[in-house]
Amino acid sequence: MATHLPSPPSLNGPKRLAYLGAATCLLLLCLTRAWTAWITLPHDLLRLGLNGALAVVGLWLLRTLLVGSVPLETLERLTLRLSIPVYLALNVQTFVHAPQSFDNSGVNEVVLVALGAACYLFLPPAHALRWTAAVFAGHLISHWWALGHHLTRTNLSLQLARDLTALVAWLLIMLLATHRTAWAEARESARAMRDMAHTDDLTGLPNRRAAYRRFEEAMQGPQTPVSVLLIDIDNFKRVNDTHGHETGDQVIQAVTAALQGELGHAGVLVRWGGEEFLALLVGVTLGHAARQAEALRAAVERLGIRHGPVTVSVGVSGRVARDTVESLVHRADQGLYRAKNTGKNKVVVQED
Ligand code: GH3
Ligand code: MG
Ligand code: MG
Repeated sequence: MATHLPSPPSLNGPKRLAYLGAATCLLLLCLTRAWTAWITLPHDLLRLGLNGALAVVGLWLLRTLLVGSVPLETLERLTLRLSIPVYLALNVQTFVHAPQSFDNSGVNEVVLVALGAACYLFLPPAHALRWTAAVFAGHLISHWWALGHHLTRTNLSLQLARDLTALVAWLLIMLLATHRTAWAEARESARAMRDMAHTDDLTGLPNRRAAYRRFEEAMQGPQTPVSVLLIDIDNFKRVNDTHGHETGDQVIQAVTAALQGELGHAGVLVRWGGEEFLALLVGVTLGHAARQAEALRAAVERLGIRHGPVTVSVGVSGRVARDTVESLVHRADQGLYRAKNTGKNKVVVQED
C-alpha cells in the first residue's frame, strides 16, 4: 500500500563532510598554538593547557564524525556549548596573562558574532539568548579590562566601534532568528490546519477529501490493482433514535476501532461520511479484497456493544481499465445497495 511517503533527502552527508573539515582545521590550529606556547619561553602554561585540551576535543570530534556514533544534532549543540566557555577562557587568558597584547585585528569580534549566529542556528531560542548574552558579557568584560591596561585614545575608539558593530550584528542575528522561529511556527500551524482539514474529528480517520488524494496516488499507475470497500453501519438511525446521538457517536468510534484493528496496514480506512466508511486497498486482487471485506464485517459483528448488536454491510469493487475514481466508488456503492436490499450484514462484490 502506498501509504509511506518518501522521506526528504538527508543533508547529513555534506554536513558531516563540512564538519570533518572544520574539526581537522580546529585540530591543526590548536596543535600549532600549543606547539608555539611550548617553544616560547617563558612557557605560557594556560595557553598550552587550553590549546592542548582543545586539540583533544578536535581529535574526539574527528573520531566521532568518522565513526558516526553520535547524531549530528547532539554533536552541534555539545560543541557549541563547549566552545563558548573555551572562547571566553582564551579571551581571559590572553588579556589577563598579557594585557599589553591588546588585539586590534577585530578577530575576536568576528568569532563573537559567529558564535552568536551558531547559537541561534543550533539552540532553542531561549537558550540561544542566554548563551549569546553570556558570551557577549564575557567578551566585553575581558576586553575592557585589558583595555584598562593599555588605554590610548585610538584603542578606546577602536574598541568602542568594534563592540558596537558586534552588538548591531548580534541584534540582527537575534531579529533573523526570531523571524525564523515565527516562520517555523507558521509552517507548523499551516501543517496542523492541513491535517485538520484532512482528518475527521470524531474518528481521527482521514476524511473524504484526504481519500481523494490517496485515490489519485493509487490510480497513478495505470496497471495498479485498486479495490474499494464501501462499509455502512446497518440500521444506525435506530441507535440514534433509541439511545441518543452521543451513543451513536460512541458506536461510530467503536466500529472505527474494530475496522481499523482488522484492516491494520493492509489498506487505508476513511470516514466517507455519516456512518459510512471506505477502505482503499492497493495492489491486491478483487478476490483478496472480498476476503478482507468479509473479515471487516465479521470484526464488527464480534464487537460486544452494550446497546445491542452492531453490523455493517459492505460493497466491494475492483478497478477495471476504464475506471475513474467515481466509477470505481459507484460500483462499490451498487454492491452496498444490493447488500442492504438482500438482508444487510453481508458483503456483495459488484463485478464490472
Ligand atoms: P441502513 O441500514 O439502510 O444504512 O440504515 P441506517 O439507519 O443506518 O441509515 P440512514 O441513512 O437511514 O441513517 C443514518 C443515520 O446516521 C442518520 C444520521 O443522523 C446518522 N448520523 C450520521 N452521521 C452521524 C454522526 O456523526 N453521529 C451520529 N450519532 N449519527 C450520525
Ligand atoms: Mg446505515
Ligand atoms: Mg448510510
